[in-house]
Amino acid sequence: MNTPPADPAAARIGGLTPFSSCDWPGKLCAVVFLAGCPWRCGYCHNPHLLRRQNGETRWPDILHWLQSRTGLLDGVVFSGGEPLQEPALPALLEQTRALGFATGLHTGGAYPQRLRRVLPLLDWVGLDIKTDFGAYPALTGLPRSGEQTETSLHCLLQNNSNFECRSSIHPHWHNEIQLAALARRLAALGVADYHWQQLRPPPSFALPPAPADWPAPQLIEEIAPLFQHFSYREH
Ligand code: SF4
Repeated sequence: MNTPPADPAAARIGGLTPFSSCDWPGKLCAVVFLAGCPWRCGYCHNPHLLRRQNGETRWPDILHWLQSRTGLLDGVVFSGGEPLQEPALPALLEQTRALGFATGLHTGGAYPQRLRRVLPLLDWVGLDIKTDFGAYPALTGLPRSGEQTETSLHCLLQNNSNFECRSSIHPHWHNEIQLAALARRLAALGVADYHWQQLRPPPSFALPPAPADWPAPQLIEEIAPLFQHFSYREH
């Protein structure tokens, strides 16, 4: 017996950013944050999005508001938490597209099979690569999390998807030797669009931001030619 489709009105919405120019490179978008994540990264900036619980906004209200944004926004990005944990995500994507918006997804790759199923409904994916795949459990707290992300990456590559990989980095959690090895591995797998972005430690860590000369400019110069697009985002 087939499982009935999840009710989009029951989606657990953790929050909404009405306008963003940096969550989908080159696009003006709204960002819908879906609540719930199976991982527990030590540096998580969104602890309020880890449990599947509603914030103040409901999907029918967002859908109604989106109707007034036609022509003002290029698209809508679904982020989290881990948006693929939301059973109603396919319906949310279908309804968003029906309004004429492009659809994007931020994911850590925890649900490769679900990612495969929603790819036909997506125009772009931002896949977080947290660290070397073998080092994931120490960072996420979950065994097999690195395998899940690696499988998600292969899924995007095999489907010729429009996607970027990005790694949020800080010297407390990453070192330059690991980062260089990870970049070379991603390039060898066929990733064309890869970015490092500065990870700002949450206040509970009482850690300063990364020093201005980290990662070393020479390392960035060495890594950049491996990809069609590579950058270090400091915002
Ligand atoms: S995957 Fe993202 S939302 Fe989930 S625990 Fe890690 S940092 Fe937080």
